[in-house]
Amino acid sequence: MIGELHKAGEAGLLFEPTAKPVPAEERARLLIDPGFGRVFTDHMAIIEYDEEKDWHGARITARHPFTMDPASPVLHYAQEIFEGMKAYRRPNGGAALFRPDANARRFAKSAIRMAMPPLPEDMFLESVRALVRADREWIPDTEDGSLYLRPFMIANGSFLGMRPSTQFIYAVIASSVGAYFRNDSPSVSLWVTREYVRAARGGTGEAKCGGNYAGSLVAQAEALRQGCDQVVFLDAVERRWVEELGGMNVFFLFSDGSIQTPPLDGTILHGVTRDSLLTLARDMGLAVREEPYSIEQWKADAESGRLTEAFACGTAAVVTPIGSVKEADGTFTIGGQSMGPLTARLRSALVDIQRGSAPDPYGWTELV
Ligand SMILES: *Cc1c(COP(=O)(O)O)cnc(C)c1O
Repeated sequence: MIGELHKAGEAGLLFEPTAKPVPAEERARLLIDPGFGRVFTDHMAIIEYDEEKDWHGARITARHPFTMDPASPVLHYAQEIFEGMKAYRRPNGGAALFRPDANARRFAKSAIRMAMPPLPEDMFLESVRALVRADREWIPDTEDGSLYLRPFMIANGSFLGMRPSTQFIYAVIASSVGAYFRNDSPSVSLWVTREYVRAARGGTGEAKCGGNYAGSLVAQAEALRQGCDQVVFLDAVERRWVEELGGMNVFFLFSDGSIQTPPLDGTILHGVTRDSLLTLARDMGLAVREEPYSIEQWKADAESGRLTEAFACGTAAVVTPIGSVKEADGTFTIGGQSMGPLTARLRSALVDIQRGSAPDPYGWTELV
């Protein structure tokens, strides 16, 4: 532990080890079947900000509840952003992060959109690395297992005036996770909402902010009532172009071997998984299009057999095949019941790099 302490110290973060770590046997029991986002580790990272002091107080400390004033602006105006990334256990016992620099960059961009101070990217990276070092034992040693890292920033203070805060708390918590979708079904079913939209140009669709999720929960609830796993959102203007799911990007795969995903035109989250899969697909020699795709076309292509596979992707869910799409006037299905061959190929190309079972020619992985 002293070695760990020293390393965290070098990173400029103070390391205050918890006085009450979860005993090893208890941790082992929790890691058998952790689910998603229910099992939390011993520590958290915190860095505070205020206008006079700038960023300060960087530390790894025991995971603990926040105390905040009931007039804290995050509680009223949702000035909040977050990230999602994973640390993977390496065959040799170490741990690796996947493209953490991309998350650091996106976090700073989200901050700017939400009138928050961008956290310097090196502070973001050091806080994440230090937390992984402190809680490395919490990475499940299973095929699907990883340590899901949740950096976030909230506006703090005590005022109700409508203005950006001048005080913020940045923190990182970590959760031992298994597969995102519990039901072990090989694919997910989607509900196409016609009532709700997720984002419009000029809005906050490109920022990873809590408000986007709050606004999409009612549509997600509608999907569940319809017997579907997830909701798919259409564009806010014409209500026909497929954008993304509540928290995942979408890909369409065709019988000619080409693949397509909606373009990043201001309303879609710039997924790191999306970007990585596009790179892998191009390097496999596939024809790749970042072009709008309409819901009518999706249905027609699924029915004609031109579309052979579709999947949703994100850090949490990795690559998950889409099996069926339900609308008010009927359901169409895609491909067979199991994961299609091209989806499987793209998925393993990604996962093998993330987990270190294949070489990483892109320099995407960082050993911690
Ligand atoms: C986080 C997120 C994604 C996926 O992004 P990754 O970087 O691949 O995890 C996609 N859509 C939304 C709305 C998201 O919040």
